[in-house]
Amino acid sequence: MDLFEYQARDLFAKHDVPVLAGEVIDTPEAARAITERLGGKSVVKAQVKVGGRGKAGGVKLAASADEAVARATDILGMDIKGHTVHKVMIAETAPEIVEEYYVSFLLDRANRTFLSIASVEGGMEIEEVAATRPDAVAQTPINPIDGVDEAKAREIVAAAKFPAEVADQVANVLVKLWDTFIKSDALLVEVNPLAKVASGEVLALDGKVSLDDNAEFRHDWDELHDKAAANPLEAAAKEKGLNYVKLEGEVGIIGNGAGLVMSTLDVVAYAGENHGNVKPANFLDIGGGASAQVMANGLEIILGDPDVKSVFVNVFGGITACDEVANGIVQALKLLEDRGEEVTKPLVVRLDGNNAELGRKILTDAAHPLVQRVDTMDGAADKAAELAHAAK
Ligand code: GDP
Ligand code: MN
Repeated sequence: MDLFEYQARDLFAKHDVPVLAGEVIDTPEAARAITERLGGKSVVKAQVKVGGRGKAGGVKLAASADEAVARATDILGMDIKGHTVHKVMIAETAPEIVEEYYVSFLLDRANRTFLSIASVEGGMEIEEVAATRPDAVAQTPINPIDGVDEAKAREIVAAAKFPAEVADQVANVLVKLWDTFIKSDALLVEVNPLAKVASGEVLALDGKVSLDDNAEFRHDWDELHDKAAANPLEAAAKEKGLNYVKLEGEVGIIGNGAGLVMSTLDVVAYAGENHGNVKPANFLDIGGGASAQVMANGLEIILGDPDVKSVFVNVFGGITACDEVANGIVQALKLLEDRGEEVTKPLVVRLDGNNAELGRKILTDAAHPLVQRVDTMDGAADKAAELAHAAK
């Protein structure tokens, strides 16, 4: 999950990385009181999850509260590289900026380690610097066990050739930033610019943070989610703890195991070529222990998607045997009907693996009018695509 700048700023502040005060707002008039509180000056910054806001006109200085309201009016609603600005941060203005540096920590997947990237030529041209003069950008691998202590921070400072007068401060920022990176389970923490201001102080003026979604279980990140940007079906699925991704198609997909679901998407897309080019409507992995409850939750999400015209339930019985899954489907349909959800879309079910025969028999005996059994994956995909096309 990528954070907005203001969220990155809050995280930095929590870990003692030096930042300036700032507040996020979504109406221009709100800029007035904040700017007055900040002493009558502020910087108005577009909050969008994309870089290059400065160059796009999304970062403006305001010399008065009136001006801050005017700049917020300009910037709210602006489009920056396809991202609409819904929020702006009103921040304390940095005293005159003398130099702009760049520092970051990230996961270096290719080399299976962490990496520090640092440059004394930060600011809005950093991509250009990295492309044309890679020697001006110091890359230092970080041993994940040792992390970044003061000695390691000084090694980075030396590698990037930071001027002596800021060496202590930059080293301190690096230790704090590493602390932010590790304690937040981040994949990236970036400060650009890390600015040296007229007083000689070094401040993090812009931050970018990407958190590792796999670590969410050990954090309280509810507040950080961008609810406005989330797809409502994905949000509802997340509430129910389901691994669901909305796609643009007509065949709803439920399977157990991410690999099986991925190949189901492929098989359905392929079958769809013979049936009006229908496509899979979603990814949904209900995992190993597919109880009736989980199956009902999954079906509810998929049947609630207006794009879905048919549903393909593709299950390979393993630890959870097919008879349990079949009972799950039958009970799930009953559960939905009891909840008052009208089930009107056809379901194609393919069961194979552990106790397949028993599972198929349970479905046959239940004889639900909307459920059809097809025992091969290709056959079932073809049937589901055909039904979706017919209902389009
Ligand atoms: P980005 O373009 O999306 O990376 O946005 P930044 O937050 O990095 O802002 C772009 C540029 O605006 C920075 O490189 C700074 O030169 C400038 N800037 C940002 N904050 C301030 C501030 O508080 N005061 C001043 N004078 N300039 C700022
Ligand atoms: Mn920046």
